[in-house]
Amino acid sequence: MFWRKLASDARAAKRRVQGPARNPFWSVQAYADAMATYVSAFAHLKRGRYYKGWCALEQVELALERVVRNAAPEPVLTLAAERAQIITLWQSLFPYRVFASPGFLNQDWACSICGKRSTPIDPCGHIPGQVYDGEFCSVRITKTKILEVSLVLHPVQKYSVLTPEDREHDFSLVAYVVDRLNDPFHAWTGEWTHRRHPHSAFVEHPLDGPCPCNSSLRYRECCWGESGVRVKHFAAQIAGYQAYEEGVVWSGVKPLPLPPPVLPGLPNCDPSPRLVVGPLPQTRCPTLPVRAAMNRQASGPVQVATSSTATRLGLGYL
Ligand SMILES: [Zn+2]
Ligand SMILES: [Zn+2]
Repeated sequence: MFWRKLASDARAAKRRVQGPARNPFWSVQAYADAMATYVSAFAHLKRGRYYKGWCALEQVELALERVVRNAAPEPVLTLAAERAQIITLWQSLFPYRVFASPGFLNQDWACSICGKRSTPIDPCGHIPGQVYDGEFCSVRITKTKILEVSLVLHPVQKYSVLTPEDREHDFSLVAYVVDRLNDPFHAWTGEWTHRRHPHSAFVEHPLDGPCPCNSSLRYRECCWGESGVRVKHFAAQIAGYQAYEEGVVWSGVKPLPLPPPVLPGLPNCDPSPRLVVGPLPQTRCPTLPVRAAMNRQASGPVQVATSSTATRLGLGYL
């Protein structure tokens, strides 16, 4: 796969230089590894394995944070920051809201760079999360004790999702978007806003009961005086689709008429902006962002890109 190959080439290139000159190669390697994980996250979502997809997206989020924090060279920094926004958008489509967060008492640990048991009083000088001469610094915990588990809304890591016993999670928004994407880099975006929906849709809610907008006020004192009930709204924009209204939760999209194919073997693919409704950041055909990204990377120190790998990459999840 293209990203695995890019990562291993960056690793090989890193070994050929010394000192801080290795850092840009670490950035390329970390970004390429993150994108390989992103491709597998997309494959999980395509097959309806939402929790596995969620966990892979979380790995990508954390990996991209590491790349951005270490001031990767352009264009890796821009690519990582752009992809991080898409990861946040993906995560917002999931129904997971509450997470288990374990609290640990670490009894023994070592710096991954120098092996020292660094403490605030006797620090080793390496900061976890920073890259030193092409090596990422982390704290290796060798002995720990779990103290407690808290329920939190904003966890450090989002793997420990909680599933209510009496309810199923609703992944319909994730499914809706992923069903309409041809490949992991198909351009799409979306926006969470609010809309007022007519009171006639909420007749079963008594005026003295809780407002259906979940404000924790009474219906009569909250939305009843307004033009409608305030409902969370997601508007999706997907390259090759146009927006229309669907349901009460989000604006749906439907396919635009097929344009004539512009690249041999790539039907349903037109890079011209006229196909896209709404402020899409990328209005290229699904496989083109990959190729553009690759060309930008190819101007850096690592050159492994060929157009055939890009085409394969676009189909990597199949
Ligand atoms: Zn150290
Ligand atoms: Zn209300």
